Amino acid sequence: MTQPSEQPLRRRQVTAAVGATGRPTALEVLRDRGMHLARPTGTHSKVDPEFDPPASGGIALCGEKARAGLLTLKASAAVLVLADTAVYESYIATAQSPLRVPDISDTLFADDDPLDSLLNDLVASQAPFAFTPSGYIAPGDFAAFKALVNALAGIVRADVVAVIPMAVTWLRKETLGQVIACLKQIPHPIALVLGGQYNPTDHYADVAGNLRRLYREIPNLGLWRTDVVSGLDCMAHGGLFAGIGSSSALRHCVPPGEITQPSGVRLKPSVFMADLLSYARADKLARLYANDDPPQCWCTECRGRGLDRFDSFDTEVAQSAAAHNTAAWIELWSDMYATPLPERSRTWTSRVQKAVSEHRLESERIEQPQAFVPSKTLTRLAKLAAADSAAQG
Ligand SMILES: [Zn+2]
Repeated sequence: MTQPSEQPLRRRQVTAAVGATGRPTALEVLRDRGMHLARPTGTHSKVDPEFDPPASGGIALCGEKARAGLLTLKASAAVLVLADTAVYESYIATAQSPLRVPDISDTLFADDDPLDSLLNDLVASQAPFAFTPSGYIAPGDFAAFKALVNALAGIVRADVVAVIPMAVTWLRKETLGQVIACLKQIPHPIALVLGGQYNPTDHYADVAGNLRRLYREIPNLGLWRTDVVSGLDCMAHGGLFAGIGSSSALRHCVPPGEITQPSGVRLKPSVFMADLLSYARADKLARLYANDDPPQCWCTECRGRGLDRFDSFDTEVAQSAAAHNTAAWIELWSDMYATPLPERSRTWTSRVQKAVSEHRLESERIEQPQAFVPSKTLTRLAKLAAADSAAQG
């Protein structure tokens, strides 16, 4: 336990370190990063001890125990490791209290700024930057949204990631302009977390295109807690960074107070199919490939084995599926990272269009019509890509 008398000294040291010249800011370090998001505890979405992210990536632990998890994580010193305490999973922002900050009025530090003290503590727990303790912005609560933006814009330090966790309905065209105007006031890297059940980017037709507008107009914004398709689309269209979840719970945010859907069902592992840019359940893959050769994967985990082999509730199998999922998207990201914009955007467009076709071709190959159907998001990205090509002549 930390002795109370040690606290002021630790704070002075941290503040001095942040103010030191030559230390890269959060904005500089996060530029063009594909981050792997994991839980600090739990069997299935913990960081695989063998996982060694490339220099273009890093690991972020998400959840209440993220800071404690940093201490047990055995990542090498060269790996960027961050902690997002994910306050938005359980706290809804209000106009009065958009951030969840502990009350320190009865403590020795009553004269300190409570938010600054909390950020100091977060940075002191071995992470180079602090994620803000932002509450979730419910649909239509513009007063809470403005209060959160004002609070984040007012933070005067360069070691902060401003978290904007909002219901996906905020990106509808009726409110998008207001959202952009407000977010432009925040000078820090912005981690945008979309809230909603299932896949938020599937919720309505404009989401994918409106996200691209955000990346264009707010160059310090990245998409956080997302899946491979939306994360890489962000990186192909000028987003600052992306945080791709290692489990479905880390690929979106269920609004506080809601039960994750589908509820009460134990699911087999979700398996990423790189050629299709899609996830499929392990039991579905085992059923579809019962009489056909499954797609082989040559990632570092699979080494040529079939993708139908994860049909189990066994922990080791689930961990192997998670290791495959991570290796597969890291490979896609490493290819993309090596290609600068705007060429990156063109290459990604081709990949998305090919992935949509692959759904039909693979269904035909195994003679099971509609076995694979592209997600709404993937279909819309392919259409956007076609519209972009037509516009470019
Ligand atoms: Zn694999």
